[in-house]
Amino acid sequence: MSVLEQTAAQYRSLRWMATAGQLGELLADAEANELSYLHFAQRLAEHEAAVRTRSRVARHLKQAQFPAEKPLESFDYRHQTTITKRQVNALLDFGFIDQRENLVFIGPPGVGKTHLAIGIGQKAIQAGYKVLFRTALDLIEDLELAEMKGELKKRLNQLAKHDLLVIDELGYLPMTRQARYNLFQLINNLYEYRSIILTTNKDFTSWGEFFHDDNVAVPIIDRVIHHSHIFMLGGESYRLRQKTTG
Ligand code: ADP
Ligand code: MG
Repeated sequence: MSVLEQTAAQYRSLRWMATAGQLGELLADAEANELSYLHFAQRLAEHEAAVRTRSRVARHLKQAQFPAEKPLESFDYRHQTTITKRQVNALLDFGFIDQRENLVFIGPPGVGKTHLAIGIGQKAIQAGYKVLFRTALDLIEDLELAEMKGELKKRLNQLAKHDLLVIDELGYLPMTRQARYNLFQLINNLYEYRSIILTTNKDFTSWGEFFHDDNVAVPIIDRVIHHSHIFMLGGESYRLRQKTTG
């Protein structure tokens, strides 16, 4: 085994996989550019860190299970004028996640609620946070199943492992009493501990009716709204506009 191979093997055993895999190229590059010893040492560390970040981001994007690729860069603020780019950009320092605050996007279908939720979620992952995307319906089914298996607590704790949980499309369908209760458990478990992005077509004033005005609704609404940034989105459906203009 050459010294290069031995050294690469040693890096590998230290779990510096990116450096191990590219040691030859990194050396050749250092020689070609006449790097100082210090700069070479720096290059190795930077290379390893950059590759690890890339693969962590890729892994977390996959784990987040976004239903579609919706980058914020493709969000058109000329169409959606009830929220500004400045307002959205202000969220991207992720103070809201650090302070366990929630975002709520309220508005009719097609105005970009899900697009914004995914776009912000993707940026959060790039910034190092763990995110999970679920529709409200998915979550309700998920929790119901866990409940039947007697594993509700365990499942709630798994869901709380993410820094940010996106709950998409709350309010589109009526829920059973048990579903509401499970959802309350979830929101209670995350309250002041993790962040939620919630999208809904229901204004808070009609949430009571949606939750059938029972005693579970009020504490859910209370906990979601407390420490929340609420955005009321309006305007034309983007889907409709695309149909009519092209
Ligand atoms: P909602 O969740 O409010 O019903 P979506 O976010 O799913 O709406 O938007 C519907 C479709 O229109 C999606 O494909 C989305 O990417 C697109 N869309 C909506 N608003 C915009 C916008 N302002 N700029 C670009 N695409 C948009
Ligand atoms: Mg949506």
